[in-house]
Amino acid sequence: MKEYSIEEVSHIVRPQLGEDIPLTLYRILRVIGMRKILGETSGATLYMMGKQVGSMVGAKDLGEFEEKIKELKVGIPEVQVIDEDHVIVKLYECITCAGFVYTGEMFCDMESGIIAGLLEGVFKKKAKSTQTKSWSVGYNFCEFEIILY
Ligand SMILES: [Zn+2]
Repeated sequence: MKEYSIEEVSHIVRPQLGEDIPLTLYRILRVIGMRKILGETSGATLYMMGKQVGSMVGAKDLGEFEEKIKELKVGIPEVQVIDEDHVIVKLYECITCAGFVYTGEMFCDMESGIIAGLLEGVFKKKAKSTQTKSWSVGYNFCEFEIILY
């Protein structure tokens, strides 16, 4: 199976419809479709997928990290560096969960992966991200704790 680059998938010819899609379509694919097909493994798969995306997009420093997250409209990040191997990222207007009703479970695994993938480039270390807050568990932002090792 052929692997495609970001450059290849970014070549869009849609003179009338443009490059944007309704966020609802994205959420149908992401929250309904992928979870239905992948089942219990959807979290791990989406995380790995996000991590791949994060490392392909790449970021050299925290400024660029914030820019890329905003540019991709994943959300509006707020980074807090706790110490040399702990980072907390709050994500406002999260692409997947912003506005979601309380469901008692968190599922922003792809976003978690994208954050980890980008931060690996920033800190030149391995990164493991865990989601700790979400709209779907009663907050009005998303939060991730990242361990660098
Ligand atoms: Zn979220």
